[in-house]
Amino acid sequence: MNIALLGLGLMGRAAAERLQARGHPLIAWNRSPEAVEAALEAGLNASTDLTLAADADCLLLMLSDAAAIGQTLDTPYLASLNGKTLIQMGTVAPDESRALAARTEAAGGCYLEAPVLGSLPEARSGTLIIMAGGEPEVFTRCLPVLRTLGAEPRLIGPVGKGAALKLAMNQLIAGLTASFSASLGLIRAEEIDPEVFMALLRVSALYAPTFDKKLERMLGHEYANPNFPLKHLIKDSRLFIDAASSCGVDTRSLEALTEVFEEGAAAGYADADYSALYEAINRPRR
Ligand code: NAP
Repeated sequence: MNIALLGLGLMGRAAAERLQARGHPLIAWNRSPEAVEAALEAGLNASTDLTLAADADCLLLMLSDAAAIGQTLDTPYLASLNGKTLIQMGTVAPDESRALAARTEAAGGCYLEAPVLGSLPEARSGTLIIMAGGEPEVFTRCLPVLRTLGAEPRLIGPVGKGAALKLAMNQLIAGLTASFSASLGLIRAEEIDPEVFMALLRVSALYAPTFDKKLERMLGHEYANPNFPLKHLIKDSRLFIDAASSCGVDTRSLEALTEVFEEGAAAGYADADYSALYEAINRPRR
């Protein structure tokens, strides 16, 4: 399968490196030249020329959101997707993914959603958790690509089910990180040794490994070089709120949290690691 990987952001770059290193024929494309220049310097086959995607069998999308995907697919070079398989790996809403499937099929292509849980280390080591949605035969055909990025890709169901499961996972990222931030904030304000708090937390039923992964950043107020930027967690929280509230789930708690996250983004943390939400939660109230 000749792959055109569209989007050399944080995840796209890591996935492109892994796929190319594992011998997949690949051209990576990015809208802005800076990411392409950096990729070329690292030895990746990359270009800002989207016409090259017209020759690929597989379009692998690692773009920020549904709007970015729509704008990219609007190019005349991709008006026909005849014989192509589009694997969409970014985090979008179930309805957005179903609309993309319809658009892909109308243009003659096959569609698979394959959103992922895990970040840069997992993309680099091929251990992403891949939650696919689509037709079983399309999933099977895509397995050599998917298995390069994730150990055990799972077909969850038809298009939309993988996207919904991914949003359910990211709601947990938002909730767990916010909850941990508030507890750690009280611990520090009361001048309790954070290691005492962590030692007790680690042996309790309340512990989640993500707490230790983010502890150092929060203690050091160090959020540069993000794995997953706060702006994307805000996007995913908003997508969860829309999807879940239309199913009758009460999303008021996440809505309140998302407002706090947005204050963090407005305070300058939009492109920082999402653990910067610690700063939004632990700041003097206006
Ligand atoms: P990112 O670093 O912000 O990269 C976003 C990519 O989308 C860039 O290549 C950017 O190109 C492109 N893009 C944005 N708007 C565009 C437009 N209008 N037209 C064309 N290209 C556009 O994001 P990321 O962290 O790689 O995440 C990508 C997707 O995966 C997101 O949906 C995210 O929620 C999801 N995800 C991320 C992680 C993670 O840990 N980072 C984990 C799981 C899932 P430019 O360089 O031109 O702006």
